[in-house]
Amino acid sequence: MPVLDTSSLVTLSSDDVFSALGTSTRGLSAAEIEAKRAQAGRNELPAAKRPRIIRRLLLQFTDLFAIVLLAAATLTFIAYALQRPHEVSNLELAFAIIAVVMLNAAIGFGMEYSAERTAEALSALVPRTCRVLRDGERFECPASDLVPGDLVVLDSGDAVSADCRVVEAHELRVNNAPLTGESAPVRRTADAVGPQIALLEARNIVFMGTTVVAGAGKAVVFATGAHTEFGRIFNLTATAPQTKTPLQRQVEIMAKRVSAAALLIGAAIFAIRAPLGQGVVASFVFALGVMVALVPEGLPATLSVSLAVGVRRMARRHALVKRLLAVEALGSTTVICTDKTGTLTRAEMTVVQAWHAGQIVHVSGVGYAPTGHVGAAASVREMLRAGALCSNARLLAPNGLQTWRVLGDTTEGALLVAAAKAGIDVDAEQAGSPRLTEFPFDSTRKLMTTIHRTPSGFRSYTKGAPQELLEKCTHADWDGEPRLMTDELRSTILAVSDSMASQGLRVLAIGGHDIGSARVPMLVAESDITLYGLVAMLDPPRQEVSEAVLQCRRAGVRVVMVTGDHPLTAEAVARRIGLVTSDAPVIVTGQELDRWSNDELDQVVADPRDLIFSRVSPEHKMRVVEAFERHGDVVAVTGDGANDAPALKRADVGVAMGLSGTDVAREASSMVLLDDSFASIGAAIELGRSVYQNIRKFLIYLFSHNIAELVPILVATIVGFPLVPLLAVQVLAIDLGSDVLPALALGAEPPEPDVMDRPPRAARESLFSAAVVHRFLFLGAIQSIGVCFAFFWRIHSTGMPFSSFTSATPAYREAITMTQAGIVVSQFFNGLAVRTERRSIFQAGVFSNPRLIGAECIGVAIMAAISYVAPLQRVFHTAPLTASDWAILVVFGILLLCAEEVRKLLLRRRARRCGTEHVRTHNELRAREVVT
Ligand code: ATP
Repeated sequence: MPVLDTSSLVTLSSDDVFSALGTSTRGLSAAEIEAKRAQAGRNELPAAKRPRIIRRLLLQFTDLFAIVLLAAATLTFIAYALQRPHEVSNLELAFAIIAVVMLNAAIGFGMEYSAERTAEALSALVPRTCRVLRDGERFECPASDLVPGDLVVLDSGDAVSADCRVVEAHELRVNNAPLTGESAPVRRTADAVGPQIALLEARNIVFMGTTVVAGAGKAVVFATGAHTEFGRIFNLTATAPQTKTPLQRQVEIMAKRVSAAALLIGAAIFAIRAPLGQGVVASFVFALGVMVALVPEGLPATLSVSLAVGVRRMARRHALVKRLLAVEALGSTTVICTDKTGTLTRAEMTVVQAWHAGQIVHVSGVGYAPTGHVGAAASVREMLRAGALCSNARLLAPNGLQTWRVLGDTTEGALLVAAAKAGIDVDAEQAGSPRLTEFPFDSTRKLMTTIHRTPSGFRSYTKGAPQELLEKCTHADWDGEPRLMTDELRSTILAVSDSMASQGLRVLAIGGHDIGSARVPMLVAESDITLYGLVAMLDPPRQEVSEAVLQCRRAGVRVVMVTGDHPLTAEAVARRIGLVTSDAPVIVTGQELDRWSNDELDQVVADPRDLIFSRVSPEHKMRVVEAFERHGDVVAVTGDGANDAPALKRADVGVAMGLSGTDVAREASSMVLLDDSFASIGAAIELGRSVYQNIRKFLIYLFSHNIAELVPILVATIVGFPLVPLLAVQVLAIDLGSDVLPALALGAEPPEPDVMDRPPRAARESLFSAAVVHRFLFLGAIQSIGVCFAFFWRIHSTGMPFSSFTSATPAYREAITMTQAGIVVSQFFNGLAVRTERRSIFQAGVFSNPRLIGAECIGVAIMAAISYVAPLQRVFHTAPLTASDWAILVVFGILLLCAEEVRKLLLRRRARRCGTEHVRTHNELRAREVVT
């Protein structure tokens, strides 16, 4: 419930807003929060209503396959009704078709439901948080905890979590697109506006669902949950439509084509069989059965399962996929443009050196514990004091099991720690020189400035990248004396900064100067600065990253560092993690990028040497991504800031940081790294590749057995055998019993160990590549030979002429049982054969996918039941098989497996000859070099 009339809220001055909303500049107290929460409830929107279960289940029957199959069932019923005497087998066929449709609908519904649950569970892994001031302390809390009266701290990249009145704004700009549709950022201030201004237009209000795109500020919450503007317009029944990925569309198109082909084959079989005197209705029903058998009904559901399994596995490896499209794109990613800080490094900054007035000072101690020693502390005191005042981070003392932590930017946290090590009481300094204005840090300007009221007047402090800050310095503080900043002095200081950077350190310059007023524009605050000195921070590389970089190289994925940091820092870190191994890497700076045309950039991108982009802004990142895309690459790009959003959206895979990333970056990305680590991108690529591989595996599995179902029927038609070697109802039993479950199990195969030893798949490569088609034709042919042999051998062994066979002949019933069992048994071995692409299945482990073995055993058990259980024998017109019958079928299955083993062996040999193995060995050798 809103606490007061919002139209009057916009007219109040900032000071009056606090009292009107029952709070203060220190924020609410714990007791007030409880009381307000009891009144207003949690800051949550009611869950969107989903369509009813029945409706969703019914929707499953509206897809093309279901419609085709239901039409077939109806025709079969009609055929049954027209025939005199009634042919019971037609009735059975009709029911069997309906059973297939039901089963598919159930699977489809189950998959959809579990995918939704997975998506919900995964989105809960990245909780939405916000920063608030409560009892004078700054906290990070779940957005759902906000109550009216809370004082929220806003920063560039934050999502606004409730409707708030702005009380402090520093260059604050928000994107109101979710509410107004207008995507150009609008400025927000703390000033009062007239009562006639509409709430959405009021410059001093920020709304839930919008985002802060620049600047910083504070705002007091006045409406939460369903009482916000967003809550009011939130369509409770709306659920975002899941758009289909290219792969899903490709499979759908292909499935439709196969269905059309099945229709034609059915029609051809009818045209051939009907004149042979087998009865129009019987031939029609038979042709219908063949058609139904060939329709790949389970395909879309199996594909969804495979993608969903991939998404779940990626989440387990800390890569949260937000858009299914990313799973596919990851499989063909050829370039990763990665940030440095936090992704390749740990983002655990420690100031280890400082420079002041020509003197290097060492700082001891690691991590955020403020225990350590600052050499010549007195000389760098003013610099560290300025650095601490010009910081928004907070140092949090150990609490329970936790150690010292930093809330906010870790670079700023390191400055607080260094100040504390130098004996500076940061809280006392902040109280003694309160901050009046802030010009927030942005990665294009690479500076941050704050203005303070000090006992001697107004003073501004600036910190940032040395090159950028030095350009704005007119003096340097030389042990208390101002020294003119000559070009010579500037180059000397830059040389010091370079030497620190070449050790892999992150360097910041700090300065300040007196100003006449707190209300000066940024340009004034950031000019005529006196430099206090430099600080250099250590940010160790993440341990797991070297291995991941190597893995990517081995997999033919180029890793390019795109960082805002100094080129020398970037190069030193890149060398440490094996991202740069050559003596002469190409290092491009943001300044060069500004000068270059797209053609020049394209040439650099096409150069295969190790490549680093340094000192870049988010706008540069966008250009880099576009250049790689022009070069034909599939690009994954990482980002964390609000300005990274366009590049994240543009790239094939936009990767946002779950821990340090802003809400805006997370919103724009298709994948979120829960641990911010580069290694998780490597893992996601591996899994993306394996998803694609698995899809190919179950396609081969499904299509090869369709061939084995079709060929005996065609052969019988050609050789003039009057009956069919496989009844339609048997075909459906195969599809139900030995088709769906193993295909699902194949879709969930773990990645093959060599999946990262191959180059990326071409983005445009069709799912039905020549290799896939050849393989299912090969396997289908072997299966067909076995099945035809089993059938005709049994027919032949009776010594009876073809014409004397009727559907009641016992040998015919045995023969069709052999056909059905032949397909089921060969599918058992086929499942094992398709599990690996090149490796021997014996090397991969015959039982290493127990789900597949289980699913196939179920298929064989169903077949055994059909063969031995009397009621089922009546339905399927089958007869009991003998042990020797099974043995013959198993021999054929083993032959199929052996043929595949030989094919894989030849493939491995060829790959070795082509040098794939050589490249691998070479990379491994290089890996060892890097590690040592
Ligand atoms: P990456 O993009 O790889 O994460 P980065 O984090 O080093 O790199 P930026 O955050 O754009 O890139 O920082 C660029 C430079 O700006 C840094 O090298 C540092 O000198 C300076 N800098 C970084 N953070 C701050 C800050 N909070 N205040 C002032 N200057 C900063």
